[in-house]
Amino acid sequence: MHKKALTSQPETAWIFDVDGVVTNNDTRTVVETEILQQIIERLKRKQPVALNTGRSLTWTIETVVQPLMNQSEDKRIFDLFFPVCEFGATWGIIRNGETSKFIDPDFTPPEFLKIKFKKIASKYTDSMFYDETKETNITTEIKDGVDYDKYQEGRKEFDQEVSELLLEQHLNDEFSLVSARLGSTIAFKNANKGLGAKRIFTLLEQKGIKPKRFITFGDDLNDLEMGEEFHKSGFEVIHVNVGEKNQFSNVQTNFQIIDTISSFDKGTLEYLTSFNK
Ligand SMILES: [Mg+2]
Repeated sequence: MHKKALTSQPETAWIFDVDGVVTNNDTRTVVETEILQQIIERLKRKQPVALNTGRSLTWTIETVVQPLMNQSEDKRIFDLFFPVCEFGATWGIIRNGETSKFIDPDFTPPEFLKIKFKKIASKYTDSMFYDETKETNITTEIKDGVDYDKYQEGRKEFDQEVSELLLEQHLNDEFSLVSARLGSTIAFKNANKGLGAKRIFTLLEQKGIKPKRFITFGDDLNDLEMGEEFHKSGFEVIHVNVGEKNQFSNVQTNFQIIDTISSFDKGTLEYLTSFNK
């Protein structure tokens, strides 16, 4: 797609990590549905909104995009909604409520790596499952109803085995193991929240949209890569941290980081509603 001439300069573009930010950590669904209403209000004001997640596009459409679209009769507003998944390697473009799916062909993992990873995962099925919907990342996730501490115990060993696999296959230069709250993922090293941010930037550019400022939301340390990427491109950035308080207190950035009082999805809603006042 070609770059379009600049057609709009909204005040703010809103960028959300998904797990623990839009969806609830326990149910892994949208529990604070008011967040969806808040997103819709912004879309109606022609402010672009994007998701930047390690999740698959299939999962993200089912869990966030569809419930979001169900909240508005006018489907054209979602032309400004951009789901960017698998750390920037897959994304959706929405026209009149229809989502087209895209994959960056540079991010296809070798089949043998998937098979070996799956074999390791098969030893830990009491607490985790292999995510079949991923197209570029290789992921296991915590099973529903499993005690988090118990999951962490098994996950430590699992991560150790996966790290050894990457080492023995000499794949450490190309891939890394990302250990997030709800799952472990082998991801391409150059696919990360920063690539997701770049993808969002390109998608906006293709529509001729140049926001004045980006407000990014995350609960994990790696979510800061979004803010860093937008800041590097010369934009004003505010990063809203809804995860562990003060987790960035020793991190130097040239943009503002705000810790919400409430945590996770409740923190997201807290910021979105206070911002409207
Ligand atoms: Mg998260």
